[in-house]
Amino acid sequence: MGDIQPELVPLLGEEEIRSAVSRLAEEIQRDYRDKNPLLIGILKGSFIFLADLIRNLDIPLEVDFIRLASYGTGTSTSGKVTLVHDIPISIADRHVLVVEDIVDTGLTTCYLLDYLRNKAPASLKLCALIDKPSRRQVPVKIDYLGFSIPDRFIVGYGIDWREHYRNLPDIRYVKES
Ligand code: 5GP
Repeated sequence: MGDIQPELVPLLGEEEIRSAVSRLAEEIQRDYRDKNPLLIGILKGSFIFLADLIRNLDIPLEVDFIRLASYGTGTSTSGKVTLVHDIPISIADRHVLVVEDIVDTGLTTCYLLDYLRNKAPASLKLCALIDKPSRRQVPVKIDYLGFSIPDRFIVGYGIDWREHYRNLPDIRYVKES
């Protein structure tokens, strides 16, 4: 990991995350019963959230992944979004639910939702674990939201700092030095 290791401060505990995921699953289950939704996880940050979310959903559903690159290896955005891996199936006439880890400036999500909307899904909604509203540059409607947090750089529960800390079971923020 190199010499410099950030100091991490606890922000959201395992139990807090578990109950937010279960609340979101209840809302999603109510809205998507009989719709066979396609849940699209945005790699890599959403993989643990998505895995926990679908295990709380007792309805027919399908899962796929898209990989975007919007961040470099540090803690600041590059501002540019590129599609690294697309879904191999058609989403026309499907009920699509995008599952994101964090909505920060909103640029990534906005780009992705526009891209998917052009493929004519029957419906398109967004589920995000974390919102950082103070950082927003473009408006984004989050249909299912776990937590709203202040402007902090977070890690854990699938979310990385330089590709590390995804395996932490809780969410912590990097203390500014
Ligand atoms: P946006 O385009 O909304 O600025 O950024 C969205 C993406 O930036 C997220 O999906 C995530 O990959 C990354 N990101 C935003 N905030 C954080 C953060 O606090 N920690 C980490 N690791 N990634 C973040």
